[in-house]
Amino acid sequence: MVIHYGETGLKAGNRPRFETALAVNIRRRVRELVRRVGGRLTLALWADSDREQIRTALEETFGIANFAFAARVPLDLAAIEKKALEIAQGAPPGSFKISARRANKRFPLTSEQINRQIGAAVAALGRPVRLVDPDLTIHVEVAFDAAYLYTDLLAGPGGLPVGVSGRVVALISGGIDSPVAALLAMKRGCKCLLLHFHNYSFYEAAVRQKILDLATVLARFNGRTKVLIVPFLELQKAIVHKVPAEARMLVYRRAMFQIAEKLREREGAKAFVTGDNLAQVASQTLDNLRVIYAAAPRPVIAPLMGYDKNEVVRLARRFGTYDISIRPYEDCCSAFVARHPETRGRLEEIEAWEQEIEMAPLVARLVEQTETVMVRPSGLERPIAAAEQTPSL
Ligand code: ATP
Ligand code: MG
Repeated sequence: MVIHYGETGLKAGNRPRFETALAVNIRRRVRELVRRVGGRLTLALWADSDREQIRTALEETFGIANFAFAARVPLDLAAIEKKALEIAQGAPPGSFKISARRANKRFPLTSEQINRQIGAAVAALGRPVRLVDPDLTIHVEVAFDAAYLYTDLLAGPGGLPVGVSGRVVALISGGIDSPVAALLAMKRGCKCLLLHFHNYSFYEAAVRQKILDLATVLARFNGRTKVLIVPFLELQKAIVHKVPAEARMLVYRRAMFQIAEKLREREGAKAFVTGDNLAQVASQTLDNLRVIYAAAPRPVIAPLMGYDKNEVVRLARRFGTYDISIRPYEDCCSAFVARHPETRGRLEEIEAWEQEIEMAPLVARLVEQTETVMVRPSGLERPIAAAEQTPSL
């Protein structure tokens, strides 16, 4: 197989790091040998290689622009011609073109000369040449170690290899938005730690399972994934008892960032990722985001800002998180949310409520109670204890 990555926008100095990270990420998903050959990667298939599994793995590896199952022949025009004829004879009748690409400039023929020579040989079989929209395109890629021939170029997910941008803490609620936000951060090279605040609700165990199932899908793109689960009941109780309903959401979301910051520091991550968007409801007005993000001393990345809801849904379906996200368990208890929440929160007011409920020691306690679960692309790395019984609010 030949694997191409997008090189545009890649600074020369960054390229070796990018290539190494991509090769390592592919190796984590497949058993076949991955090699770097001048500006592309190759994957050596065995007779018993599982092509479907490999294809899926590559479609889930950010940094890959496109890839192809190819035939590998020696760097020799006669060998290339022989293979091209074989491919043409095996294909359904119709027009064709040769599309040569010469990465190895020491090869004696230019791409144009290869197109002409191989094209003439294939045309002699009686196939008409058609340069625009042919039925069959035979790609000939002259690399440094060999020439690669293939007909179908498959699309990769694009982006940068996970890890090259550093580690981030992604806040995952169990809704549709936050898993997509984490995936888009991965697409820009972020290795995501997933952080979930576990609310008390009637469906507690089901919500927990939902988060771990989402993490399993995300791990296909992110690699081995650390999931941090914070038991939020004590804080929910404190807020419900002392803070008026309209202000609860803001106190609550600031508490999330205060805890997230402690965990970020512990884990050596550089930023936060949320599924926030702009809407004239609940927590997502610019006034409220100002109050919430003021509790976050590192950048908060909100990749969904530029998308409409239907676009986010489309992404969720494509990445495979949608069906899990729509399971009917709310992650927030109804006693908690105000019918008419504050949309123009003021920082000083919210900070006063934080004093009132003695937030700082609460935050420290919850950080200590945080549970860690490791999730692999294939599922849980170690079994987790059944969710403990939680008393009602
Ligand atoms: P989502 O679909 O991700 O739940 P949303 O549009 O419902 O997003 P909110 O519920 O206001 O929006 O949450 C905004 C963001 O805050 C979420 O995208 C997520 O990043 C974070 N968040 C909310 N609740 C939790 C939670 N229980 N645990 C972790 N993060 C959360
Ligand atoms: Mg939500």
